[in-house]
Amino acid sequence: MEQLASRLQSYLTPAEIYEVQRAYQFGVKAHEGQLRLTGDPYIGHPLAVAIILADMKMDVPSVIASLLHDVVEDTDIPVSVIASEFGEEVGMLVDGVTKLTQVHFETKEDAQAANYRKMLMAISGDIRVVMVKLADRLHNMRTVQYLPREKRRRIARETLEIYAPIANRLGMHKFRLELEDLGFATLYPMRYRVLDEAVRKARGNRDNFLEKIDALTRDGLKDEGIEFRLVAREKHLYSLYKKMVTNRLPFSMVYDVYALRLIVKSVDLCYRTLGIVHNMFKPIPGKFKDYIAVPKANGYQSLHTSLMSPFGVPVEVQIRTEEMDQVANDGIASHWLYKSGEGSTQGARAHQRVRDWLNELLDLQTLAGDSSEFLENVKVDLFPDEVYVYSPKGDIMELPAGSTVVDFAYAVHSDVGNHCAAARVDRQLAPLSTPLNNGSTVEIITTEAAAPNPRWLNFVVTSKARTSIRHYLKSLDSENARLLGKRMLERELQNHGSDLESLSPQAMPNLLKDLQMDSVDILLESIGLGQQLAPIIAKNLTGISVVPTSREREKKGARQGLLHTFSKVTPNWLLGDQDAASSSRTPLVIRGTEGVVVSYARCCRPIPGDQIRGFLSTGKGVVVHVFSCPNTRSFKKNPDRWLDLSWDPTDGLNFPVDIRIEVVNQKGILAVMATAIADMGSNIDNVSIDNLDGHNSVTNITLDVRDRVHLARIIKKLRNIRGVNRITRKRG
Ligand code: MN
Repeated sequence: MEQLASRLQSYLTPAEIYEVQRAYQFGVKAHEGQLRLTGDPYIGHPLAVAIILADMKMDVPSVIASLLHDVVEDTDIPVSVIASEFGEEVGMLVDGVTKLTQVHFETKEDAQAANYRKMLMAISGDIRVVMVKLADRLHNMRTVQYLPREKRRRIARETLEIYAPIANRLGMHKFRLELEDLGFATLYPMRYRVLDEAVRKARGNRDNFLEKIDALTRDGLKDEGIEFRLVAREKHLYSLYKKMVTNRLPFSMVYDVYALRLIVKSVDLCYRTLGIVHNMFKPIPGKFKDYIAVPKANGYQSLHTSLMSPFGVPVEVQIRTEEMDQVANDGIASHWLYKSGEGSTQGARAHQRVRDWLNELLDLQTLAGDSSEFLENVKVDLFPDEVYVYSPKGDIMELPAGSTVVDFAYAVHSDVGNHCAAARVDRQLAPLSTPLNNGSTVEIITTEAAAPNPRWLNFVVTSKARTSIRHYLKSLDSENARLLGKRMLERELQNHGSDLESLSPQAMPNLLKDLQMDSVDILLESIGLGQQLAPIIAKNLTGISVVPTSREREKKGARQGLLHTFSKVTPNWLLGDQDAASSSRTPLVIRGTEGVVVSYARCCRPIPGDQIRGFLSTGKGVVVHVFSCPNTRSFKKNPDRWLDLSWDPTDGLNFPVDIRIEVVNQKGILAVMATAIADMGSNIDNVSIDNLDGHNSVTNITLDVRDRVHLARIIKKLRNIRGVNRITRKRG
C-alpha cells in the first residue's frame, strides 16, 4: 500500500489518497483468508493492478475500482454494497469488470475474435472498465506461471487474440508489448527460449555498437547544449517472431536493425536535434517522416529518420518530447492524466473525455488527410450501435442495438424466425419481444405450428425480420381469404342444391373468362375479401342466367364485373325479415382462426355465444357484429353485403369484450377487481376510469374471454366485490 500511496502522492490530494486507502482496507477484509496460487494473500493482486493504473496516473474511481475489481466475483459482497460505500461510479466500474470476467471466450477464427473484441468493448460501457481489465490481465500474465498448464495456455491465447489487440486499438503500446511477450512465452515456451537466446547473443555486438553511437551522439548534442535522454529500442520478441513467420525470414534478417530514440525537452529541440544528427551521420533518402507536424490518426507524434552509421550499418532514429513519448506508450490512458483543480466530478466526465479525444483525432485526421481505418474502428468499438450475442454454439452474432429475440431468430434463418415459438436468454425462458443485451446467449425454440404474428412488427428492428414477417402475413392473408371464400361459395351453392364438384363442366371456365380471372383460387380469394359476392357467383354457376355476355359487357365498356352489374338488383331471397332469411339458409361458421379476413367489430366486440352477423367489407373480408349492434342498421339498406354467421370457436381462443363497472371509490378496489378477473383465467387488455363525482366512478375494462358463459362467470364474481354497484357489457 505504501508503494501505491507514494505513486498517488504525485497527482492526488491527501483526501483522495485517504479514499483509496479506505478501499484497500475494504478489499483486505473482503478477501480475508483467500490466497493466490503463489501462496501470498489475495489482496496482493488487486494492489498490483492499482499500482499499474497509478503509474499511468489514472483517476480516483479507476484506482479504487481496481482495488475492488475481484470482490464481487470472488466474495459474497454485491455491487450495491460497493456502490454505497464508494459511490455509483466505482460501483459501475466494478460491475463492468465483473461482467467482462464472466464472458466466456472460445478461440475461433479471426472474424470471431474481432467480434469478441467488439463485444467486450460494448459490455464495458465505460472505457475505464477496459483499462482496469487490461491492467488486471497484465498482472495475471506476469504471474501466469503459477497456474496449471491448460489454464495457462487458454489465458495466454486469449491475451494474444483479444487483449493485446484491444491495447493496440487504444494506443497503449507499452501494455500491448508486454502482453504479447508474456503471451508468446507462455504459449510457445520453446520458441521463446530459442529466440531469446539468439537475441542475447546478438546483443553483445549490438550493445557495443549502440554504445559507440551513443557516445558520438552525446558528444554532438552536448556541444550544442541540448539535454536529452537516449533509449536503445529493443525489438520485442513477439514482433520478431511474427515477422519471421509471416515473411519467412531468418533471425539475422529481422534482427539486424538498430534503433534508438532521443527524448528532448521541447518541440523546438526535436527539430534542432534532427538537424544535428543529420549533420553527424548521413541520412538515408526517403526515410524521413515528420509525425509532429502531421500526427498519425491515433495522435502519435514523433520525428522518424534513418541514418547511415560510420560502421556501415543503418540506424533508425526517433526524436520526440517526453509528452509525445507518453502518448506513444500509454495511448488513451495518457488522456486521463489528473488535472488539479478539476475536483471530484472529473471522473464522471470520463466518457465525454473519450469523445473529446476522438474528436481531436478526427480533427487531426482531417488536417492530415489520412483516411486510416484506426479512428473508425476505435469509434465503433467505443460507442457501438450494435449488440453482440452468442448463439447456443458459441458463435457471436452482431445485431443492431435494440434487437429482440425475434430479430435474432430471423438473423439465424428465416425459417427459424417463421417458426419461433419461445426463447431462452441465458437459459431463462423469455418473451419473444425481449430486447437483447450484450453477451447474452440466445436459444430459439421452434415448433412446426408456430407462425409469425402481426404484433411482432411492433417490436422488431431489423429489416430482415420486418420483411419476412410482412411477406408471411401477406401470403397468409390470401390463403385465409381463399379458404373463407371457398366456404362462403360452398354454402351458397348448397342453398341452390349444388356444390363445387357437381357444377356443369363449362360453368366455372365461362365465369372466370367473364370476370377476367386466371384461376378459381383468385375467384375464391376475391369472394373471401368481399370483392365478389358469393350469392351472385353461386347463382351464376348454377345456371341462372343473370350475367350479361362478354360481348354485351364490352359494348358497355363495363369492367367492374358482377358486383357493379347487380348493385341495383336485389334478389328476393335477400329481402324481408332477416330472421326468416337465417332460418332458411345455412349460416357461415366462424371459428376465430380465419386470420385477418374475419375481424371483430370494436363497437360491439362479439364473443362466442352471441348472436352475430357479418358485414362484407370490400377488400377487408367479413366484419363480425353482435346482432343487436346499432351499426348493423345499414343491413336493410345493403342486404347483399350482410351474412348470417354462427359460432364454432376453436379451443383455446380468447376474444376481447368491454365491460363497464360502476363502483364506490375506495382504496384498492381496482386491484381487487383485477385479481378477481385474473383468478377467473382472464386477461385485462385495457382499463380506463371516469370519475362521476367524489364518491362514484366508472371503470371501463377490456378483457379476454372464451365465450358468453366465461364472461357471465366473471361478471358474477365481480358483483360479489364490496363497492361494485352495477356491471354492464358494452355493445355498440
Ligand atoms: Mn483480477
